[in-house]
Amino acid sequence: FPLEFAFAEIRRSKKKFFVGIARDITERKRVERLTKEFISTINHELRTPLTSIQGSLKLIHSGMIGELPDNVKKMISISLRNSDRLRNLIDDLLDIDRMISGKMRFNISNHLLKPLLEQVISDNQGFAESHGICLSLTNAVPQVDIAIDRDRFVQIMSNFISNAIKFSDPDGKVQVNVTRTDTDVTIHIIDEGCGIPEALHEQIFEKFFRVDSSDTSSIGGTGLGLSIAKAMAEQMHAKVGLQSVVGNGSDFWIKIPL
Ligand code: ADP
Repeated sequence: FPLEFAFAEIRRSKKKFFVGIARDITERKRVERLTKEFISTINHELRTPLTSIQGSLKLIHSGMIGELPDNVKKMISISLRNSDRLRNLIDDLLDIDRMISGKMRFNISNHLLKPLLEQVISDNQGFAESHGICLSLTNAVPQVDIAIDRDRFVQIMSNFISNAIKFSDPDGKVQVNVTRTDTDVTIHIIDEGCGIPEALHEQIFEKFFRVDSSDTSSIGGTGLGLSIAKAMAEQMHAKVGLQSVVGNGSDFWIKIPL
């Protein structure tokens, strides 16, 4: 059976002792193997067929294979929306696994902040409009380069922005604002939504934590996005955090060293 060893040197009244511990790690290895199998099953048995289901639904929805009656089109839209939710959950689980196992590669290089933020905002504009939210960049972005993995940075920003939109009332505003000092640049995503009680500010970055986790919550989500965002930010030497007051909205920020 697999063993893990640890040794230590102890000094007591000028004498030297060596202590050795051998620990049976059969159980840990078994859990690691099961986790690996589980992740591989998620990938092959869930993600792959889901990609094909989504492809077919999109084709039918586009009308390319014939015009659809309105009620059928509506049903296809619902199926597409729910297949997107399933896909997000699967992608989040795979991301968590890659982060934990250290398999997620970070390709860090310098990027000019302004065009990057403009792109993230334009990517999320459709989602904002579908919720009646006005999403905008509210101040002049400093001309700075940031050392980040582009795709991962976009993922963190999109997570903050889509949360800000999801947890706002229709007709609300979501603003992206940038501040800088000599040593770092901080991007704030500010909403006027429900806010988060201060006692939960640390917990919401934990895996699967949602402020309203009841089955009746009408706002979809997995509770994984923020934990992934935090772990990714750390890999880029950045920090994430928030200020929030219940009923007054939230300000989620990411601080990147310059
Ligand atoms: P998800 O959004 O999928 O539930 P996240 O990890 O992104 O998962 O967020 C965890 C929880 O933190 C959310 O379920 C919500 O309760 C809370 N939260 C995140 N962002 C906001 C926000 N801008 N306003 C209010 N609550 C938020």
